[in-house]
Amino acid sequence: MQDIVARLTAELGEAVTVDPERLTAVRTDKSGWLSPGAPLAVVEATSAWQVQATLRIANELGVGVVPRGAGTGLAAGATGGDGVVVLCLDRMDRILEIDPADGIAVVEPGVINADLDAALEPYGLWYAPDPASKAISTIGGNIATNAGGLLCAKYGVTREAVLALKVVLADGRLISVGHRTVKGVTGYDLTALFVGSEGTLGVVVEATVRVLPRPVGDVVTIGAFFPAVRQAAQAASAIVGAQLRPAVMELLDGQSLDAVRAYLGAAVIRDAMGPAAGDGFLLVQFDQSPAPETVLRAVELIEADGGQTRVSTDAATGEQLLAIRRAMHPALEASGEVLIEDLSVPRSRLADAFDAIAEVSARHGVRIPTAAHAGDGNLHPNFVLENGMEQKIWDAADDLFRAALDLGGTLTGEHGVGVLKRHHLVDELGADVYRLQQQLKAVFDPQGILNPGKVFTTS
Ligand SMILES: Cc1cc2nc3c(=O)[nH]c(=O)nc-3n(C[C@H](O)[C@H](O)[C@H](O)COP(=O)(O)OP(=O)(O)OC[C@H]3O[C@@H](n4cnc5c(N)ncnc54)[C@H](O)[C@@H]3O)c2cc1C
Repeated sequence: MQDIVARLTAELGEAVTVDPERLTAVRTDKSGWLSPGAPLAVVEATSAWQVQATLRIANELGVGVVPRGAGTGLAAGATGGDGVVVLCLDRMDRILEIDPADGIAVVEPGVINADLDAALEPYGLWYAPDPASKAISTIGGNIATNAGGLLCAKYGVTREAVLALKVVLADGRLISVGHRTVKGVTGYDLTALFVGSEGTLGVVVEATVRVLPRPVGDVVTIGAFFPAVRQAAQAASAIVGAQLRPAVMELLDGQSLDAVRAYLGAAVIRDAMGPAAGDGFLLVQFDQSPAPETVLRAVELIEADGGQTRVSTDAATGEQLLAIRRAMHPALEASGEVLIEDLSVPRSRLADAFDAIAEVSARHGVRIPTAAHAGDGNLHPNFVLENGMEQKIWDAADDLFRAALDLGGTLTGEHGVGVLKRHHLVDELGADVYRLQQQLKAVFDPQGILNPGKVFTTS
């Protein structure tokens, strides 16, 4: 194993570090999972040839390589432990091209999502995928996890924005997949396959992404309190069913609201929402100067489910209402340790999903404050860890994943499988598809050196 450090250092010099502090830092990500042991080395890549050299050497020696962006992942996908090399891409952070004529940008993988968006602004362009971590996560990490965000119900998840990729394969070969053109159907769609592959098929070293005209016009934001979260969820499903297409539709349950109230102070919520209160909060935002009848219809649907609404047509109040939703994770973090989970259900089953969460919470005696990207049926149940990762948390999470599948949903809407959900993968995919996916992995990475132990229980 010393061999690999010597070989990497001989080729890559100062890009290789064995500094114990750095080795410890990359054992974890924002999921809180800590890999057993420390990696052999960290490569801080600044160019594609360094990525190629790292993989060529690791492949020759049969050593695992964990690609890593900013380490904000919530599934432990970028964590490196015993016997592997962690390959950090965050220093490959150049925006290589912005081309308004073709509506594309070409970036290295370490570009921070919000930095790309800021660079596009002077051109009147916009990068739509907007994970709540956009200020701290990389485009490479977003691609590898197929990240979603608040706006993705209307504007699509990361996959919709990726046109072409340069990828380094496990043996160090550099390939290009996809098209600079809007259309392109030559061969299998390997670009789509790499998106969401969590660093298990190749390392993204360049991405050509679709950029859009920045939305213009006014936003209209509706905040609504409901007596119970089920009613808020029903209203969200009704808005989807009525084809109203809000840009943002977010939902908080009563426990999340309590945490936000404690964190921001009751006055902040009162300023945004007036005296109304409740056990479920729905936030609906229409952009691009919506037709008045669209907004009226949404209000009608919300009120039909018992919601008390506040409609704001100015951007500042809209921001105040959004701040309630944005405060959810900081509020929970401040209140103690939580496991942030992620599952999705068909949008018509949102209320049933909240029922299932309440049932699992009561059965296992675990508090599960939950937020949802209600526009796309993606829920984030947050397991409160009063005594660390006790068995009852795992049991409750197992039951919840099963409930999501029973509702026709999926184990993960946007955070990925990583380490934390690999034991459940076969439950959703079934034995045949699981095997097919393992075979696909073997085509790209015959020795199983890319992100070993992630996504699949064996690699
Ligand atoms: C406060 C907070 C809010 C969040 N909100 C959202 C949200 O709204 N939506 C959402 O989807 N996620 C969200 N996340 C999760 C996380 O930010 C995303 O998964 C993000 O896409 C990870 O990017 P990263 O650069 O941190 O990648 P990392 O965490 O470093 O890596 C994530 C995965 O991608 C792989 N990877 C990274 N770079 C590459 C590359 N260049 N080539 C191949 N594989 C690579 C890694 O091996 C790993 O499997 C949030 C996280 C936090 C902490």
